Amino acid sequence: MSNVRVRFAPSPTGGLHLGGVRTVLYNYLFARQHAGTFVLRIEDTDQTRFVEGAEQYIFDCLKWCGLEPDESIQKPGEYGPYRQSERKEIYRKYAEELVAKGYAYYAFDTPEELEKMRVDFKTESNPSPQYDNKIRLKMKNSLTLPKNETESLLSMGTRHVIRIKMPEQENISFTDMIHGDVSFDSSVVDDKVLLKADGMPTYHLAVVVDDALMKITHAFRGEEWLSSAPVHILLWKYLFGLDKMPQWAHLPLIMGPSGKLSKRDGAKYGFPVFAMNWTDPRNNEFTEGFKEKGFLPEAFINMLAVLGWNDGTEQEIYTLDEMIKKFSMDRVHKAGAKFDYEKAKWFNHEWIKKLDVKNYKLKVEENLTAAGITINDDAQFEKILELVKDRCTLLTDFVQQASFFFSTPAQLDVDAVKAKWNDEKKNFFIAYTEKLQFISNWSLITVETVFKELAAEKNIKPGELQLPLRIMLVGGKFGPPVFQIAELIGKDETIQRIENAIKKF
Ligand code: GLU
Repeated sequence: MSNVRVRFAPSPTGGLHLGGVRTVLYNYLFARQHAGTFVLRIEDTDQTRFVEGAEQYIFDCLKWCGLEPDESIQKPGEYGPYRQSERKEIYRKYAEELVAKGYAYYAFDTPEELEKMRVDFKTESNPSPQYDNKIRLKMKNSLTLPKNETESLLSMGTRHVIRIKMPEQENISFTDMIHGDVSFDSSVVDDKVLLKADGMPTYHLAVVVDDALMKITHAFRGEEWLSSAPVHILLWKYLFGLDKMPQWAHLPLIMGPSGKLSKRDGAKYGFPVFAMNWTDPRNNEFTEGFKEKGFLPEAFINMLAVLGWNDGTEQEIYTLDEMIKKFSMDRVHKAGAKFDYEKAKWFNHEWIKKLDVKNYKLKVEENLTAAGITINDDAQFEKILELVKDRCTLLTDFVQQASFFFSTPAQLDVDAVKAKWNDEKKNFFIAYTEKLQFISNWSLITVETVFKELAAEKNIKPGELQLPLRIMLVGGKFGPPVFQIAELIGKDETIQRIENAIKKF
């Protein structure tokens, strides 16, 4: 193992968005590529956002995707605990160290005082004032109170937070693996809270302390965190030294049909946005997942890999092993990546086509059972799988595409044949069923030969008769070649379906 250590650090607050899975994937690929370690750390310091079941759900999703971490709460390594709420004591020490060094301060302002600040300092040019270098000296904190007063407030256990003291004018810069050199002006960044009144750290303090203590070498996260980088850089500088700071890559946003892809887009446009189905236990709100929609995990991660990355060739289909070989952070695009559901389905279709029959069977069995279909003849089932496979974009399409093999179609698309149906055709099919009775070696060839000979005899173009036959056997205008269907459903069933349909047409 190399010393490369990467981490995915989700807050267990709900379903796992496809952008989150892409972050996992890039972490995973990078770790495997460098024979490194992929850590999963649960960032649950915001107790007001705790959601029952969200943690296990994350593990279930990663398992389904085949992207399981090397170290986590479920598989602790030597850098635990891997859940931030269990590391509470660690953070205070670092927050106090910052105060002692003069990089942070205690702030005693009550929620009412903070609210008053937002009103009192509001101006036209500054409509939402922040607790920053211009305002902090007008507030109630250890920078403005006499030392003994601060000490007595602390010793009385007065509610307080610890805030970073952002330097007034400092250029803070770093080199991002995707964005290159990025710099910030410290004077416009507010004095972020590092330690909250409940003693819990905020994300800013916890992420730096944990990345340091867990010896993280590379930190990949969504671009929405780029604006927090100046705070994190300073914390690294003050606490651990910039030479220890991980290399960062801020991954491009995933865009939906209208701006940044959101959970709402899923419901609005009818596509999944989470890896797996998720029902929020707080309000029973349901969000659909790629898994249950009928995606193969291989297709899902392949689609995510190229959502923001390419290897410089035209190649689009990658196995996980190929991705591990070819992925590189410097080929990840800076600009947001547009999610296209049709393209996602294309990937799935390609991956379904690659499945061998045995695996395909395993994948669709569950859907069949759910649809109440039982398989009696395995050999026949395998033939059906082979025939229908290429026609399915989603695993869940199989039932719709194949149900007529297992039971007589409940409905026939009569409208599709009505206009051109006549006595001549009717008589053809009556004669056809009579001839079919006598076929002793029932096969695609014999069924088709009899059909063609009879059509020639009656002087009807076979093309005119194929659609009615399809509707008779399938119920609709879809499915594999019609004589193959007849072969598989067998003689009695074929004859019976034709006879029943003649009555309905
Ligand atoms: N807890 C943060 C999130 O859920 C992690 C960001 C990071 O990777 O630093 O997005």
